Amino acid sequence: MDSAPMPTATRARTKVTAIPGDGIGPEVMRATQQVLAAAGAEVEWEEALAGAEAFRRGIAAGAPQETLDSIARTGVVLKGPLETPVGYGEKSANVALRKTFEMYGNVRPVRELPGIRTPFSGRGVDFVVVRENVEDVYAGIEHMQTPGVAQCLKLITEVGCERITRLAAAVAQAEGRRKVTVATKANIMKLTEGMLKRIGEQVLAEYPGLQHEHMIVDNCAHQMVIRPEQFDVTVMTNMNGDILSDLAAGLVGGLGVAPSANLGDEAAMFEAVHGSAPQIAGKGVANPTALLLSALMMLRHIGDFATARRIEHALYVTLEEGKDLTGDIAREGEGVPTAVYVERIIANLGRESGAVPEREYRPIALKRWPQITWYRAASTRELVGVDVFVESERDPRAISITLQAAAEGSAFDLTMIGSRGAQVWPDIGGHSFLVDHFRARFMFKEPPKGNGIAEITDLLQRIGRQHNWMHIEKLQRFDGADAFSKA
Ligand code: NAD
Repeated sequence: MDSAPMPTATRARTKVTAIPGDGIGPEVMRATQQVLAAAGAEVEWEEALAGAEAFRRGIAAGAPQETLDSIARTGVVLKGPLETPVGYGEKSANVALRKTFEMYGNVRPVRELPGIRTPFSGRGVDFVVVRENVEDVYAGIEHMQTPGVAQCLKLITEVGCERITRLAAAVAQAEGRRKVTVATKANIMKLTEGMLKRIGEQVLAEYPGLQHEHMIVDNCAHQMVIRPEQFDVTVMTNMNGDILSDLAAGLVGGLGVAPSANLGDEAAMFEAVHGSAPQIAGKGVANPTALLLSALMMLRHIGDFATARRIEHALYVTLEEGKDLTGDIAREGEGVPTAVYVERIIANLGRESGAVPEREYRPIALKRWPQITWYRAASTRELVGVDVFVESERDPRAISITLQAAAEGSAFDLTMIGSRGAQVWPDIGGHSFLVDHFRARFMFKEPPKGNGIAEITDLLQRIGRQHNWMHIEKLQRFDGADAFSKA
């Protein structure tokens, strides 16, 4: 059950930054604010600008300083969709806001709604996807290696894995949920995806009240479609979470009714998953349900459980009765304007729906992460070799001859050449489709006396006389274990 309402007289109004955003944003924001006001939410709005208008004013990040100051002051944001206008640079205002306030966790509840018919209706789908929001390939560190070969760095940190797992556990505890599923591709990416599996399992073992399990992420996608009822809270790295949270939204009616929260230590930002829907902007027909559901997450975040519950029941009653719904969810030809739908929800305030799952909500206990530039020290470190990536149109045997010649007299032996992860020299049989991008693995003949940089520099000069190399990776061992993937 939600907590009892606090007496209005003693409840201070909580300041919240409202960013109406672009396209249908201002319409769904107004609708949401009307419902919250009618339900008696003790919220004081600070309206702020971000998105297309900010870009038009030449603000490269898409949000002016006043907006950032407002968020820093209130720590809570309700946000409409923001366009990334073509022709004003490539930055997304959404990403800028998330990164500025290090909102590292994206939380997306996925729950069946009454009256929204899907192939999964009646299955009781009710789970939460917790997605890491700032790391992984979305750090956007990309380089062309050769004119025809691109690379994107997948950066995963132990601190990032720990804090997203603790957030998933906090979400489970805040909603009285019992199980956390860590979904990763650890079977293939043992170091990066494997880190979330390893840290996730370690961290979740500290929560005796929560069951936890690991699932390979592709099977998780399959299971979400086959048997979505089994999930309670899932946690994933950024790209896996991006894809599976959209898949999950599709189970219960699509992006138009999907809410989300972006959580960090400094700020929490609540927004609908959908975009600015420019085709219907200004027509007064947009569906505000997703932003309203996001606002319910916001009310619970600020501790106003009673108002959240009141609105949730009124919304469910409205959807169940199926009268006065917007065109995207109404029966064919029965859609009404946003304002009529909002009036109907407001009229239903105070009514109770049997379809709302009663949960023991508590605020999500966010741990404050100290700013540290290290996370875990290694008691021993060894430099054992170097992978040198070279561009070549020759075949592996010919490359091995030139690279062995280059290494002669150096501190290294050439031990392996690989192409897109597969060993192509020494020949171990099998057929590899070759491109002009090779990884040559050189191991130190003997451990270097110093930091090994002079030896690496010497090797690179030798290789550079014959080959174009474009990047190198040190091969290190931390605490006695290889800190690199095998061939
Ligand atoms: P979209 O979500 O805006 O629209 C997809 C489809 O869903 C359209 O048919 C649209 O009419 C419909 N739709 C979406 N929300 C609706 C609502 N509340 N009521 C009724 N119908 C709704 O996606 P898009 O067209 O790919 O993107 C449009 C713009 O939004 C782009 O500039 C994109 O960058 C931006 N965008 C912003 C966010 C965000 O701010 N979080 C998220 C996604 C897209």
